[in-house]
Amino acid sequence: MHIDIQRTAVSRISEIPKGDLGFGKIFSDHMFSMDWVGDKWIEPRIHPYGPIEIIPSALALHYGQSVFEGLKAYRGLTDNRIRLFRPHSNAQRLSNSCKRLCIPCVDPDTFINAIRELISIDSDWVPQGPDCSLYIRPLLFGSEGTLAVRAAATYRFIIMTAPVQEYFDRQGQGIYLKAEDRFTRASPGGTGGAKTAGNYAATLQPMSDSAGEGFDQILWLDGLEHRYVEEAGQMNIFFHIGDTIVTPDLSGTILPGITRDTILTILREWGYNIEERRIPMDEVLTANKAGDVREVFGAGTAAVVVPIDRIHYLGKDLQLAPVGNDSLCQRLYQTITELQFGLRQDNHGWSVLVD
Ligand SMILES: *Cc1c(COP(=O)(O)O)cnc(C)c1O
Repeated sequence: MHIDIQRTAVSRISEIPKGDLGFGKIFSDHMFSMDWVGDKWIEPRIHPYGPIEIIPSALALHYGQSVFEGLKAYRGLTDNRIRLFRPHSNAQRLSNSCKRLCIPCVDPDTFINAIRELISIDSDWVPQGPDCSLYIRPLLFGSEGTLAVRAAATYRFIIMTAPVQEYFDRQGQGIYLKAEDRFTRASPGGTGGAKTAGNYAATLQPMSDSAGEGFDQILWLDGLEHRYVEEAGQMNIFFHIGDTIVTPDLSGTILPGITRDTILTILREWGYNIEERRIPMDEVLTANKAGDVREVFGAGTAAVVVPIDRIHYLGKDLQLAPVGNDSLCQRLYQTITELQFGLRQDNHGWSVLVD
């Protein structure tokens, strides 16, 4: 694939704030674009980041035919080299999301090459430091203008990047979740397993309500009975109960997180018992009362792992055990970030160098 490159005349890199980078507030100089027209991807190009022209009747705007991905590039803390973490998994997940939304797939090699070229050009935007990285947001949507409800005939694939800072306060005690017993994120047969726009639209009102009530995130329960645990906000969730690590199985209503898979792989190597299955809230309540719940944590690319301190469920607060410095959560955080920042031998082929 030959990528046409149009460089910006003036870099905006001096606009990067010196203090808190936030999450996705400032975007790098360039973006990647290509279009699906006449049953093939055409005109792959890297060009200055900025507004794009879109027809008001574009299918994605009306009916949500849109999928995305999220991964990061990390600057090596000792060798200064830029690495991606498991980008082939993001490529595969994008293809799976595309199938669910009737969107043409992007070939994984094209996906990874486009990211590498884009980051090579904007390499100065990959921040330095153990809690900073360049967030990469691939986006693919139906661009055809029509009000007919059907799959579009044309698509735009974009990759944008943003320097980000880890926003979770790691010295704190953990987050406070509201187990949502009214709204649902996903239901059996729906699109919960795809990284698609509509899933997030459905969570905006409940998120806004729960933030107003003082909760950090929502604990999503199953869509049928509101009894089984699904996800913590935009993170997968893990329970350390007794000598076993339990996490919801990939039944189609939860997003198959790459961090989730990384954690399961590492925990298996460390010799832990793993159970991927349905987790009733009742079981969590009973186990916690008996003192068997050792830790609960969320996992995702944005924050890696985050301890959960309390869960509000059916009008009551469920206080979980405090997390110590030797917690599993902390050990996983250490191990995963050391892999990402090139401080640890990578035996899985997870790290992909950009240059
Ligand atoms: C992206 C996402 C996750 C985490 O996936 P990672 O690949 O680990 O970043 C979990 N849940 C939802 C709903 C998500 O959108």
